Parts: sequence; structure tokens; C-alpha cells
Amino acid sequence: MADELLSKQDIYDVIITGGGPAGLTAGIYTSRARLFSLLIEKLGIGGQAAITDRIENYPGFIGGISGPELVHSMGEQAKSFGMRTVFGEVTRIEVSDESTIKKIFVNDDPEPYQCLSLIIAAGHEQRKLGVPGEKEYAGKGVSYCATCDGAFFRDLSVAVVGGGDVALEEALFLTRFVKKAHVIHRRDRLRATKILQERASSNDKIEFIFDSVLDEISGQTTLDSVKVRNLKTGERKDLGVNGVFVFIGWIPSLSFLGDIVEKSEDGYVIVDKEMGTSREGIFACGDCCKKNLRQIVAACGDGATAAFSAQHYVERIKGEEYV
Ligand code: NAP
Repeated sequence: MADELLSKQDIYDVIITGGGPAGLTAGIYTSRARLFSLLIEKLGIGGQAAITDRIENYPGFIGGISGPELVHSMGEQAKSFGMRTVFGEVTRIEVSDESTIKKIFVNDDPEPYQCLSLIIAAGHEQRKLGVPGEKEYAGKGVSYCATCDGAFFRDLSVAVVGGGDVALEEALFLTRFVKKAHVIHRRDRLRATKILQERASSNDKIEFIFDSVLDEISGQTTLDSVKVRNLKTGERKDLGVNGVFVFIGWIPSLSFLGDIVEKSEDGYVIVDKEMGTSREGIFACGDCCKKNLRQIVAACGDGATAAFSAQHYVERIKGEEYV
């Protein structure tokens, strides 16, 4: 739904910031509970799942389901129950102890959206390597999404940095196109799930470079080489590649929250088991929360719990709670 069709005079029962699986599930639940619900998303519906080729551990789909298909369905499902959506970046949130109304500022608009309860489902963003050449070649050989850019590297060699689930899933995806994917990992063993390790190890197009880090990305006219350093021996070598795919984890992007809720040392929202934050009426779910298991199914569970808690909060402040 277009932004201009939504009135800023409305007071939503719940506003959800972030349209990944956690936020969409929260939207399905709040809308079915007949809460007046608005989801605000910065880029596109689906979050990281929307750029994941295949998801094979979301229950109910033998052989897996495409990420875009899964999150598209979630979005349509939430919409079918009445959830509204606007696109824009949440830049600031204003709360006061005197009022239950929370003000949500989007982009540079001075007029905020207003709500009684807020569900933060803002996810997190991909960590960058921070090495020379990374910024210069971003979008010109350096990529953070194999599903988006893999086909540009047909019959070429690429480096994949990281040893987690995403690095191996994306390296495996890249083997559909590339001649060789060199997976560079800083340890001598991988963090990724065993089934992905098995698949990657038995794929002829994948070569592992362990105990090593990528120090520099360079090229003549286009990206054509990277410097790799072995952390154990100190040996440095040039590796000829035409692309670099970086999958080295995530960092929270919650600056819009300021200090209105308690966060962990590494910047994630601290939640209780009901997905409540340190501030009444504000809940959080999915990858922006401090947690150990970051999976779509867990994000959906979080979203459902946050929605249930928001529902009870809203009904309580309206004097409508069914106890
Ligand atoms: P991750 O599990 O945190 O792995 C990040 C990898 O990058 C690690 O191997 C880490 O090395 C390495 N790394 C971190 N900083 C680095 C740096 N500065 N230089 C070089 N290497 C660096 O992140 P992820 O793979 O993006 O996955 C995120 C979460 O989503 C995980 O919980 C994962 O299980 C989940 N996920 C699950 C699935 C699935 O179940 N199919 C798919 C995708 C994602 P160390 O190992 O040494 O720390």
C-alpha cells in the first residue's frame, strides 16, 4: 500500500519495523487478532530470506522452498488479514513516560506514525571485511549476495570469505556458474552445519583455503586478484579471482532505537521469553534480538510470541483484556 494512502493521524495498535520472516509472522498474528497493524520496511519484503536461493530446513517443504517464494507468501498472508505496509527507513522513535503512544519517524518526515505497541523486527546487516579494495570494488566484483550476482561470474574464479552456513550455502550456489570458488576461512575448521560441510567438501568446484584471511582486493581495470595471508605461517600469496563474495556474519543496525531499550554489548536488543524489551509496550523478534539460534523458523516463532505479547499489552491498556 502506498505511503500517501495512510494517514499519520491514525493511531495503530501495533507498528512492526522490519519485513523479514519475524516481522511478517508478527503481522499475520496481530492482524488475525484484529489489531490495527502497520508494517514499515526499508527496502523490500522478506529480508535476507528474500535473497536466499533455497531454504531446506523450514518445516513442511521436502526438498526445500525458494526464499523469495516463502517470504512472498508470508507477506501476502499478512496482507490478507489486513496488515498494512509502508516502505521507508525508520530513523527515530520517540517514547515518553506520560503517554502510551509511541512515535515512529520515517525517512526525514517530521510527522511520525503513531502506535500503542511497537514490535522491532529490524534484522541485522552484513558485516564488511574492511580491507583495502572492498569499497572501491563493491558492485564491481565485490558482492554480498550470490543469488543476486552469481550469474555475472560464469566460468570465472571467485573467492568466498567466511566459514558459516551462509558462506557455504552461497559457495554451493555459486558453483552453478563459476569455474572455481575458493572459500577462505580464518580457522582450520568450519562453523557451518555438517550437511553443508559435506556438500561443499565433495564439490569439485570448491577449494578451501583454511587458517587464512583476505587482506586486500585489487585489479588492473577490473578486479583480478586478492591477497591472502596464512595466519599460522604468515605466508602471503596472490590469488587470481574475478569476484569476491563476503559472508562473514552480521551486525545489528538499530541506531534508530537510541537507548530507549536495553541492548547487549554487541548491540542486539535484549528480550525476555515473551519477547518483551526493557520498555513496556515495545517488543522485539528475529535476528535483531540477542540470541543463539538465527533461523527462519526461530524468527517466525519469535514473531508470533511478540505479536501475542503486543496483543495482550494493547488489550490491557484499552481495558479489553480477556483474563
Ligand atoms: P556466522 O554463523 O556468524 O558465520 C560467520 C563466519 O564468518 C564465521 O565462520 C566467522 O569465523 C567468519 N568471520 C567473522 N568475522 C570475520 C572476519 N572479520 N574475517 C574473516 N572471517 C570472519 O554467520 P552466517 O554464516 O552469516 O550465519 C548467520 C546465522 O544464520 C547463523 O546463525 C546461521 O546458522 C544462520 N543460517 C542458517 C542457515 C540454515 O540453517 N540453512 C542458512 C543461513 C544462515 P569464525 O567461525 O572464526 O567465527
